[in-house]
Amino acid sequence: MSALAVSGVSKRFGSLQVLRDINLSLEKGQMLALIGRSGSGKSTLLRCMNGLERIDAGHITIGGHALSYAPAALRRLRQDVGIVFQAYNLFPHLTVGRNIMLAPRLVLRWPSARAEARAREVLATVGLSEKFDAYPNQLSGGQQQRVAIARSLAMAPQVMLFDEVTSALDPELTGEVLITMENLARSGMTMVLVTHEMSFARSIAHIVAFMHDGRIHEIAPAKDLFARPRTEELRRFLSSTL
Ligand code: ADP
Ligand code: MG
Repeated sequence: MSALAVSGVSKRFGSLQVLRDINLSLEKGQMLALIGRSGSGKSTLLRCMNGLERIDAGHITIGGHALSYAPAALRRLRQDVGIVFQAYNLFPHLTVGRNIMLAPRLVLRWPSARAEARAREVLATVGLSEKFDAYPNQLSGGQQQRVAIARSLAMAPQVMLFDEVTSALDPELTGEVLITMENLARSGMTMVLVTHEMSFARSIAHIVAFMHDGRIHEIAPAKDLFARPRTEELRRFLSSTL
């Protein structure tokens, strides 16, 4: 069963056409990596997938929901589709544990004990069990990003979206976040990620889509796309990332 289906999606900002007739699908448990130059539409496509941006044409189904913009429908969709950004935006005045418990408490109305148990479980998943009572500023950037991932996992999403989650980190901290995402992929999570980490995309993603000028210019299993780029645009992009 497909966990994500995007068909005929277009999107403009004013007179700027940012997405042009996007079509793709992803099976449950697969990872899709979106690559391409800055401005090619990757973030916009990702944001459309959980309704943060409104599409002008086409259809999206994701995590068992047909995308619609009614507030109640959007709330339900976002419970099942987590998103993590480059800026992790943890609340500085709350401990790690409280940050993670927040959405289950407020959105799912879980009692405190249940939310705490869930928070401890997802913290263990990202390898940070001992940080439950720490404050965000006591953690490294990589650890904070792993907490942000745990916070998203606390809602038990069907699909996780990641937008350049390692781009703001010092190089020595990116590895631990990539390993966290790799473990999540191995556990069977369906994931879409925008990334500049080509070796990660090549070795971990099932499918890679190269975006260029608002279109999916090439899409293929990871190994094929990197080993045999079919277009000059992708060849040029790949050589620029070496
Ligand atoms: P990428 O993530 O591949 O760098 P984006 O999806 O962020 O690309 O942006 C695609 C294009 O849309 C760019 O030209 C960008 O300037 C434009 N854009 C993105 N968000 C907005 C917005 N909220 N309003 C107007 N233009 C936007
Ligand atoms: Mg972007």
